[in-house]
Amino acid sequence: AGNPQEPWLFGLNPPQRDAVLTTEGPVLMLAGAGTGKTAALTARLAHLVATRRAWPSEILCVTFTNKAAREMRERVGRMAGPAVEGMPWLGTFHAVAAKMLRRHAEIVGLQSNYTIIDTDDQLRLLKQLIQSENLDEKRWPARQLAGLIDRWKNRGLNPADLDAAENEAYANGKGAHFYGLYQNRLKALNACDFGDLLLHMLNIFRREKDILDSYRQRFKYIMVDEYQDTNVVQYLWLRLLAQPRHNICVVGDDDQSIYSWRGAEVANILRFEKDFPGAKVIKLEQNYRSTPEILAAASGLIDANSERLGKTLWTEIGSGEKVRVIGVWDGSEEARRIGDEAEGLTRRGIKLSQAAILVRAQFQTREFEDRFIQIGLPYKIIGGFRFYERAEIRDALAYLRVIAQPSDDLGFERIYNTPKRGLGAKALEKLHVHARAQGIPLAQAALEICDTDELPARGRNTLLALMRDFARWREAAQTLSPAELARTVLDESGYTAMLQAEKSAEAAGRLENLSELARAMEEYETLGAFLEHVSLVMDNDAKDTEDTLTIMTMHGAKGLEFDHVFLPGWEEGVFPSQRAIDEGGLKSLEEERRLAYVAITRARRECTILHAANRRIYGQWTSSIPSRFVEELPEAMIEMETTMTGGASLWRAQWSESGDPFAHVAKAQPARTMTRGPGWQRAAASEYDPTPRRIPEARRSAASFAAKARTDIAIG
Ligand code: ATP
Ligand code: MG
Repeated sequence: AGNPQEPWLFGLNPPQRDAVLTTEGPVLMLAGAGTGKTAALTARLAHLVATRRAWPSEILCVTFTNKAAREMRERVGRMAGPAVEGMPWLGTFHAVAAKMLRRHAEIVGLQSNYTIIDTDDQLRLLKQLIQSENLDEKRWPARQLAGLIDRWKNRGLNPADLDAAENEAYANGKGAHFYGLYQNRLKALNACDFGDLLLHMLNIFRREKDILDSYRQRFKYIMVDEYQDTNVVQYLWLRLLAQPRHNICVVGDDDQSIYSWRGAEVANILRFEKDFPGAKVIKLEQNYRSTPEILAAASGLIDANSERLGKTLWTEIGSGEKVRVIGVWDGSEEARRIGDEAEGLTRRGIKLSQAAILVRAQFQTREFEDRFIQIGLPYKIIGGFRFYERAEIRDALAYLRVIAQPSDDLGFERIYNTPKRGLGAKALEKLHVHARAQGIPLAQAALEICDTDELPARGRNTLLALMRDFARWREAAQTLSPAELARTVLDESGYTAMLQAEKSAEAAGRLENLSELARAMEEYETLGAFLEHVSLVMDNDAKDTEDTLTIMTMHGAKGLEFDHVFLPGWEEGVFPSQRAIDEGGLKSLEEERRLAYVAITRARRECTILHAANRRIYGQWTSSIPSRFVEELPEAMIEMETTMTGGASLWRAQWSESGDPFAHVAKAQPARTMTRGPGWQRAAASEYDPTPRRIPEARRSAASFAAKARTDIAIG
């Protein structure tokens, strides 16, 4: 069946074609990275529309990102003609749900012009509620409550659905109470948050049989990409909508499930056959994306996971370079190296847009940004702010700017009540009035106003204390290094404590960013020099037309592909993340490993992994250990390289200072790293394996760096 000359079938392999042509009944396409799942799904969409099996408006097609939806729309348009471009139900779960909810908002007590609030607003609302209920926000941070509410919504739970344990999770059994208050407050504001979009629609489907039926009739076909990362509420949704036709086609890869921290359940894909009996399972094994070396490296790595279905992948693409694993001295060498490599690509006539740096954590981007600006290499950061534009960094910079320049009103306004000191909008208004009347900066006005009784005593005292802090910091700036000053200010202002109290993954990321900021400052002699650097960096926006290198997180890169992929920071504690190691469970480490698999399989032609022997953290050199994932890469597929450029002199300096060539290793060895030797990593994964293991090259790197350093010195 199917004329292979039809544009949407052209070039597809037999199982892909099977997936396209099996239009009726449940279909599961379960296959590894780069096997053409998304391509087949796109062709299927074109086929359904072009053969008039359904109107574009009768197909629900869910992608993981808005970008993926846009691309799919364009491709289908090219294959099946422009009629499809009006596909109203092609988008992310959230986009689709938002559209539906506009039509039925009144059922859940909203108006159709409801607003969707962002995380900032969400937090502000929750804070108000916590205050109005006289709960101690320090003990029960709003962010924690926000995290719980998200989790509940991701699992399709309304306040009344919470069991005792869930209810206990906040403020000693007040979980459901606060969740309910929050929902009521949102309703009063004619607003909902992201999680509500899906939950409200699920509630409507459950409650209003007519509405559910109308959608069931409408959607003749349902398709979902990246099904392994659907969460419970999305799953419930699909199960309701796919009845009774069961014309549902989902595609995914259990090895690429990387969002369990956001409520995704890989079990959804594993139980598809049970949910939809008689499902046709299609496996794709030919990879069209990567060289055999890249593919084998990724497959070898993911083999170390126990919870997986397992699959074979092969490619006809000709042999290419091995995956390079480069050990560098430290983070700045890592940035220099990738910068050099990127310039090398340009010299080889390769466009920078064909290359990407994929990082594990946002803080990692800073060193690259600084370097690329220095050498004039155009880059863009996708799915996140540039380092110096992030809220916490802007806050920290605002403090520093006011210290350096007391008349910096914007900086002053930004932080005068961050963290919360009880200085409200009224007080600020008075400051403004006074400042305008006298023609003086806000900080000066603050001092003067404290001499009057314009402000209530409490506000006056708080403001005075803040101004004294600033005076003290300004003095400290004369003697402390910029980095020390930053740490002092962040600690003494209560900013660090505010983030520490939040205990969320996001707050942990913000704290990481702040240490990274301090680290960046270590390279500057004066605060002024650093602030000038920042303003230059901020001003350095790549133009849209420019050919740019992409920097993004591994999570964000799911589904994408690049000819050249750089993967920096493959060190224990960075990747796998410290969080995953601390949690210790197999589960979080296996998810990190899947992330590594996703990362490597983004590469079409060349993949370069880097790890640094040292990271400077809080002004201390800390020796780091190459990631366990480096060890797990099959030896035959990788090419190891270590460098010492830039490192030797530092090493020598440390050696001569301490008289001990291993001083920095011994001193800075973090407690968590244990003794390296057979099985040390297994032990770290709380699954001790007594069989002696080969200690591969990478594992010995700290020692071999030392040996190499000695040779250098002997020669020199
Ligand atoms: P991921 O798991 O990373 O999302 P995927 O399985 O969705 O990968 P696609 O992105 O659809 O894979 O395809 C990977 C690459 O292979 C794309 O560049 C695509 O154009 C190409 N491709 C897919 N199918 C074929 C085919 N039959 N012939 C040639 N190239 C193909
Ligand atoms: Mg895909």
